[in-house]
Amino acid sequence: MSPDNLEQGVQQHAKALQQAMHATAQTQSGQWLNTLLQRINRDECFRIAALRFIDVLPALEDDEDLIKIYREYFVDIDFPVPIVGRALKGVGDHLPHALFSRAIRKASQLLAQQFMGGENATQVAETLDGLTRQGLRVSLDMLGEASLSEREADAYAEGYISLLHSLPPDQPLHLSVKLSSLYPRMAPHNVDGSIAGILPRLCRLLEQARAHNAAVTFDMEDYDKRHLIMSIYRKVLLDARFHDWPGLGIAVQSYLRESTSDIRELIALAHQREIPFSVRLVRGAYWDQETILAKQHGWPIPVWQQQMQTDRQYEQNLLLLMQAAPWLRTEVATHNPRSMAFALAVADALGQTGDQYEFQMLYGMMPAMQQALLSLRQPLRVYVPFGRAVPGMAYLIRRLLENASSQSLERLQGGEGEAERLDFTPPGNVSEVPGEQDPGASRPGFRNQPVHRFTGEAERREYQGAIDKLAREPTRDTALLLDGRWVDGDRQLESFNPAHPDQRLGSVSVASQSQLEHAVQAARSAWPGWASLEAAERANLIRRAADELTARRDEFAALEIFEAGKNWIEADADVCEAIDFLRFYADEAERLATGETIGLPGEDNHHVFRPHGIGVVIAPWNFPLAILVGMLSATLVSGNCALLKPSSDTPLVAARFVELLHGLGLPSGVLAFVPGAGEMVGEYLVTHPDVHVVAFTGSLSVGQKILAHSARLPERQTHFKQVIAELGGKNAVIVDSSADPDQAIAGIVQSAFGFSGQKCSACSRVIVVGEQYRAFTQRLVDATASLKIGDPAHPDCDVGPVINAAAVRRIQTAIENGHRQGKLLYQADLDSQSEGHYVGPTVFGDVDPRGPLAQHEIFGPVLSIMRARDFAHALEIANDTPYGLTGGVYSRSPANLQRAREQFQVGNLYLNRGITGALVARQPFGGYRLSGTGSKAGGRDYLVRFMRSQCVTENTMRQGVAPLD
Ligand code: NAD
Repeated sequence: MSPDNLEQGVQQHAKALQQAMHATAQTQSGQWLNTLLQRINRDECFRIAALRFIDVLPALEDDEDLIKIYREYFVDIDFPVPIVGRALKGVGDHLPHALFSRAIRKASQLLAQQFMGGENATQVAETLDGLTRQGLRVSLDMLGEASLSEREADAYAEGYISLLHSLPPDQPLHLSVKLSSLYPRMAPHNVDGSIAGILPRLCRLLEQARAHNAAVTFDMEDYDKRHLIMSIYRKVLLDARFHDWPGLGIAVQSYLRESTSDIRELIALAHQREIPFSVRLVRGAYWDQETILAKQHGWPIPVWQQQMQTDRQYEQNLLLLMQAAPWLRTEVATHNPRSMAFALAVADALGQTGDQYEFQMLYGMMPAMQQALLSLRQPLRVYVPFGRAVPGMAYLIRRLLENASSQSLERLQGGEGEAERLDFTPPGNVSEVPGEQDPGASRPGFRNQPVHRFTGEAERREYQGAIDKLAREPTRDTALLLDGRWVDGDRQLESFNPAHPDQRLGSVSVASQSQLEHAVQAARSAWPGWASLEAAERANLIRRAADELTARRDEFAALEIFEAGKNWIEADADVCEAIDFLRFYADEAERLATGETIGLPGEDNHHVFRPHGIGVVIAPWNFPLAILVGMLSATLVSGNCALLKPSSDTPLVAARFVELLHGLGLPSGVLAFVPGAGEMVGEYLVTHPDVHVVAFTGSLSVGQKILAHSARLPERQTHFKQVIAELGGKNAVIVDSSADPDQAIAGIVQSAFGFSGQKCSACSRVIVVGEQYRAFTQRLVDATASLKIGDPAHPDCDVGPVINAAAVRRIQTAIENGHRQGKLLYQADLDSQSEGHYVGPTVFGDVDPRGPLAQHEIFGPVLSIMRARDFAHALEIANDTPYGLTGGVYSRSPANLQRAREQFQVGNLYLNRGITGALVARQPFGGYRLSGTGSKAGGRDYLVRFMRSQCVTENTMRQGVAPLD
């Protein structure tokens, strides 16, 4: 049987559905709602404004805030119902604010109630009763998406369990469950940890559900969670407690390219288990998000790009599922009439009755069609979300968006002539447009190296394999690279794993003064040859380094995990950034090599860039590869020779990269690898008269010294040194009263505690505007308390160690002193991490904005929270430090976001996202004030700092004659 030879049956059922709709009474919802929905569907500007306004509404407890934001969103937009529009325009003039706000809140509540089944158990019971009496089956869905903390996950599970207890025992119940609500740390790379975290609450819920005779379907969520949800489902299905329970189901999204293979897997599972279960076939509610995220990250797009492809896939999947009866029961979850007719045709062809399939529709959507299905005696279940209506707006928005993109929204509400407008044409057989799946394939120019998504099993296995291999490898000792040869130094610098300080990873040689001098002189001799190469030759060598690093990315990431204590995600991102720097600077060097010509009649002006000579690169440990590779490749590709001094905490990562570069055939003397412990090596090189450029990333105090040393003019030195210094930060995130708290908390926790707060860009200050302070702070603390501290080699780790014992002492001292400047709200318990250099995430509240806790860079997992009266006050506090590296604002007020753009004094400002993780070329990185000397790493103004520029002007006129062009 194929979809094509069912067509006759589909059209017959289409007619029957249309007739049945005619026969049912038309359900007309409020006229204002229909008008609103029509406008949302037809007018893109209004759609965005309305959806954003609905989204921010729950956060606007203050009437003045509500009015302000309303005006900002709808300032230039006519409201669809003219009389309402006119009234709204009069807000503040003759309509009192309180009245207006109340009206808006009421309208949004009415809107929400159209699609939600109640706020509490009593209301849910009433809805349930009413629907059951109409002959409908019901699936209850408690509103709420990914939990941010263990406390929220507990509340979600408890919410369901208490509902089960409160509803009448004879009522056959059906629940839809989002697994991400049951555990705050669900992550694609952490399969075992996610499963172990979800199972306890899930199993308790399932046991209770079973005891109350309720069936449970696992909702499918975004693509990052698909493999986890499938794995957990598999596990639970085969668990002895649930093995014989037919009441377990799962959703499959047909917009996923991989949906058919999921269905085949489920069929095999049903055969293995020998007890049937149900599969809810949906199209999928996250299409925009999946497409946007994949495009942003350069990942293959997991969803079909054309609606017709999804429609066709839906039919193919439906056929596959229904043919798998009696092992699978199919839940045809759709509002697409064509899909309904198709399911009916398949049921006919297979001789199936309503025992083996059912239709599912959303509560409040297409009521006439719901009646039509009932009148045709088709089994129909409505999916009823419940919970607090106003915070449930996020759900509502997704529903509106989802349906706006597939079906005409106005049709969903029913109305005159609805049956005639139904579309039953078969989905065409569109073939994929070349490159459709790969968002970057056709885009020319630089593209960021995509980080691992870790949704693929092979991807995770290979990464784990690299870590395991390194753990087995004997330690390796590396010599100095001087004048193209590996030479032993007079002593060794050892490197240890900060998570297991007894684990020696290897060593590098330390350069003596005479060896440093040797390196400088070798560079002097090598420079003329290196500088005279075509820019493309140097650029191509750097690109080969990028290729080699890409091929060995997991090996380098594993080494970072061991030597710097980065977790899986952070280590991978650092290697990708290093690859980006190599490719971006190679392109930049070629761009600059062409120079710039400005020709006028009789005059040629040529602006060229030439290398300075010898560059010293002094790198920090916190981005042991990316920052080092960025500074080093910029030095080399622009035609300078380079002397590299890595951080004494991460010399092995540096050594492996130097070996990689050396292996590509760099001429002798062009690159020297000269590690050192203490200040001697750095100071010797910085003060050397033959050095032209110093590229430094590190602390303000060392940066200051370097700037001072470099300014000196020793005898014999006939140039000023260029110092490119990227320094520390004390970065703030402002949480406006209109912020999305879920988004803000997730972003702040990641920015403050990712890599234990040891990023120059890390968030160390949070400034909360207005009355939300207490509630927001509590949720932020709960989310922090849910982080897992552990060995970063294990994927189940959010927060690893800090870099060394001295850092532990420094951070602990700051925490001890912090008690006098704020209130300690949280400090993680470290019992199980006694072995490594750990400091638990720590949060202070009500911090004095002028005290050291809020002013000094601590460079560890310590967060200070402050209150602000209003947004202007928040900006004032944020700008009140000597640093200016990164900053962030969470706000849904367009006016406040604009104000932040103009007044927040930072080099990198992030609006409504975390403040770490700048990407090469997309977010050129570097601060001002005391955070750096100005140029942006990964930006178009960076490479010129490694070159001197010259302008050559020729008078081309001789005897009054000049070439015409
Ligand atoms: P650090 O300043 O202690 O050391 C940086 C490098 O300088 C190391 O290689 C070190 O050995 C060397 N060094 C130390 N004393 C020296 C001297 N007198 N002369 C020459 N070199 C000397 O910094 P760190 O602990 O490695 O890194 C953390 C610091 O770096 C933080 O302050 C962080 O904010 C900053 N950082 C800034 C950026 C940025 O892009 N702005 C990026 C990463 C790190």
